[in-house]
Amino acid sequence: MTALPIPEVPHLGEADTFWRGIAADELLLERCRSCSAVVWYPRGFCPSCGSGVTLEPASGEGAVYSFSVVHRGAGEYRGCEPYVVAYVELDEGPRILTNVVGCDPDSLVIGARVRVVFDHGPDGSALYRFTTV
Ligand SMILES: [Zn+2]
Repeated sequence: MTALPIPEVPHLGEADTFWRGIAADELLLERCRSCSAVVWYPRGFCPSCGSGVTLEPASGEGAVYSFSVVHRGAGEYRGCEPYVVAYVELDEGPRILTNVVGCDPDSLVIGARVRVVFDHGPDGSALYRFTTV
């Protein structure tokens, strides 16, 4: 199994601070200043009430909500098989689409506890993924 590629992530507008956090090995979550909702994905405002948000460190821990094992990757993912694409439910609530790495895909189960890891590319790009604990 080859290491999964790290896509180039555009650093745009409201999500720029979030991606800078990922590059610094920190998973940040937006929280609404008005209704305290945790906002995922990062967008700079609360989709529930339209108020502004603040960024706060996430625990980086959660559980596998659902997953699929990919046996036929495409594009840059060809040759990385088998790999896991999963929804991880963070302890703070959001469910985020990601990869679960560093585990035997055949032994992964829904509900498995995971924690964030950060993969860094040679060009400074970085991506959050999760591994079992
Ligand atoms: Zn709100």
